[in-house]
Amino acid sequence: MKIIIGGAGIAGLSLANFFEQNSIDYLILEKRTLLDDLATGIQIAPNSHHVLKKLNVFKDIKHISKSSSELFLYDHEAKHINSIDITNDKGEAPFFLERKALIKTLRNKIPDNKILNNVDVNQVNYFREKIKLETNDKKFECNYFFNSFGYHDSNTFFESNAFAIWGISSYEHEIFQKLNLFMHHNFHIVTYPLKNKGTAFTISVSKDIERLILNDKFNKSFLQKLPVYLKNLLLHSKNPIVRKLKYSKSINWGKFNQINLGDAAHLMLPHLAQGASQAFIDADIVSQLFQQHSCDEIRKILCTRNKFLNRIIHNAEMNRIIFQLNPILSSFRNTFLKLYKPRYKWLYNSDHEIKRKFK
Ligand SMILES: Cc1cc2nc3c(=O)[nH]c(=O)nc-3n(C[C@H](O)[C@H](O)[C@H](O)COP(=O)(O)OP(=O)(O)OC[C@H]3O[C@@H](n4cnc5c(N)ncnc54)[C@H](O)[C@@H]3O)c2cc1C
Repeated sequence: MKIIIGGAGIAGLSLANFFEQNSIDYLILEKRTLLDDLATGIQIAPNSHHVLKKLNVFKDIKHISKSSSELFLYDHEAKHINSIDITNDKGEAPFFLERKALIKTLRNKIPDNKILNNVDVNQVNYFREKIKLETNDKKFECNYFFNSFGYHDSNTFFESNAFAIWGISSYEHEIFQKLNLFMHHNFHIVTYPLKNKGTAFTISVSKDIERLILNDKFNKSFLQKLPVYLKNLLLHSKNPIVRKLKYSKSINWGKFNQINLGDAAHLMLPHLAQGASQAFIDADIVSQLFQQHSCDEIRKILCTRNKFLNRIIHNAEMNRIIFQLNPILSSFRNTFLKLYKPRYKWLYNSDHEIKRKFK
């Protein structure tokens, strides 16, 4: 029985780690060679910490991360509005770390001969018992194909009008020691601290990105609107990544002997910081089911996650709108947020809900 995992991202590497634990043989095909384009940060929400424990990487990841139990909300003048609890019932809070460090940690226990880098899979052909993969290098054949190509499947994803500017800044300031959300009109900025490495930020903007960034440099008129510490944060970042944001209109777990997981199955906007968590959870579930169930059965069980995943996709989209309201609507939103704290326990305790469903 031959197994191929497509992509050495969060979902692919997590699945490979579970296969290592269960002595299941596999091969990973990954188009990247270096981790260069991973110069960003990532938040790992507490609903997936149980998976990190099963993967035996919880302590390692905690060691290289910072954490915060609250999200601090600010209006367009950077005035503090309120703070939201982002812990689960066990008191676990999200980890903030460099994406590169996360991938390295997940990569640590994978033997070198089980990953082929520089292999770009460009076609997948399905036969009765086999799947044939065509790549830039050579052809591969397998009985089972786990597709964790993430964001890259442009056929099934819907292009939103939103962009993200993503990076790490060497600028440090007391305010950046927390998880912050600065809500402006038409754009918002999220910042969080990294261990020994400054501050990670994501700017999300709808439509006219040129107003914010031009030729890899932040526009002067945009910078002038920001308080000095935010301006310095952006000026001290190198080569921020600009990405058009896409998301899934429907969840796709694959077909025949192919199982999709992570973003390849359910791409979501980053405004709820859940993509990585759901990729970890998929890998956990798929690895548990793989030895005892057919691919059709696995997909059927995975479908029981759809309602929950659609809720996350919907909430992430709503957040994008709510975080970027125009001046009139944002003043209503701010008054509301001063009086009421949104609760995310449904999300951060969701590992238990999922476990119950699968028993
Ligand atoms: C701006 C932004 C900020 C985000 N912030 C957060 C956050 O803070 N917290 C969070 O939980 N989520 C966040 N996300 C989402 C998160 O990054 C993804 O959900 C997560 O990386 C999904 O993991 P994955 O393994 O499915 O895909 P990926 O991590 O994208 O991995 C896919 C892998 O497949 C490889 N690949 C792709 N195509 C091919 C091919 N044809 N052949 C071979 N290899 C291929 C890629 O090189 C890559 O290594 C953010 C996303 C964006 C855009």
